[in-house]
Amino acid sequence: MTFDSIVGHKQQKNILLRALNSQHVAHAYLFEGPDGVGKKMVAMDFVCAQLCQSKNGCGCCSACLKVESNNHPDIHLLAAEGQALKIDQIRKLQQDLSLRPMEANGKYCLIDGAEHLTTGAANALLKTLEEPQPGTILILLTNQPDKLLTTILSRCQRLSFSRLPKHNLAVILSSKLELDETQAKILASLSEGSFKKALGTNRELFLEKRRTLIQSLSALSAGSIIPTFSLADELEKDKEVLPDILDIFQAFFRDLLLLKHNRPEEELVNLDLIDCLQRQKNTTTTSLLLKLKALETARFHLQRNVNRRLALEVMLMRIAAA
Ligand SMILES: [Zn+2]
Repeated sequence: MTFDSIVGHKQQKNILLRALNSQHVAHAYLFEGPDGVGKKMVAMDFVCAQLCQSKNGCGCCSACLKVESNNHPDIHLLAAEGQALKIDQIRKLQQDLSLRPMEANGKYCLIDGAEHLTTGAANALLKTLEEPQPGTILILLTNQPDKLLTTILSRCQRLSFSRLPKHNLAVILSSKLELDETQAKILASLSEGSFKKALGTNRELFLEKRRTLIQSLSALSAGSIIPTFSLADELEKDKEVLPDILDIFQAFFRDLLLLKHNRPEEELVNLDLIDCLQRQKNTTTTSLLLKLKALETARFHLQRNVNRRLALEVMLMRIAAA
């Protein structure tokens, strides 16, 4: 993928492209923004464009191929070990940076999760930032810039990244994952502009499991205790994906609200469940709002580590009764 062909983050890319074209690339950058929006992808492609033999990240030359396979000797990737980016890691990096580049004209370093720098590590890194070596480019990535030393912040050129608009993410997903248009749109909607969410384990949940979860939820009725308990049983199993399942249910009720108010179908998330949505179109607005409220209450309690099973049962009973 060439630097120019990355979808989204246009403004950020333009700034970087201008720097490349005018040969005014900064010694240090800070890419800040939520996790999973593609900061690292842009950083890697920016570095790739500098290493590339055609100077555009052609994707075919030997330098590009090495970058793509994480195999370029002049790129140094640093990430937290456990919960911290430690001073030893920074010292090792400084040692590496003090050596001549192996193949390129310069050395490139990506520090992913810079918010995890310990105080010692941050102070050590500050030295590198204060005395930049010619040809050395550092890119720090973080989701929490306020956790970095102001002295570090002031020495970096800062670029802020936000979540990608739904349609941009859908275009990327359909090309990367070979999804059809509908699937790509569903995945993009439920991933809220996050690549990580869309490309990770959520893909199967959002595309396949979503359908059965919504069917089970729709089948509940006020008197049906056993199906309610068995669905609670299923939801309880995987604590990690529970917030995403609540997002799925929320999107479904929201779709019903939109449909009731004659919004165009393209605004819906569950584009592949139009028939199912149409069948439930007669649910009243009051009832849908109560169902959404039940979801929100459950989310509130689950974030506070209450009895998970109980919170889910109460939520499902409220949804069924609403
Ligand atoms: Zn190339």
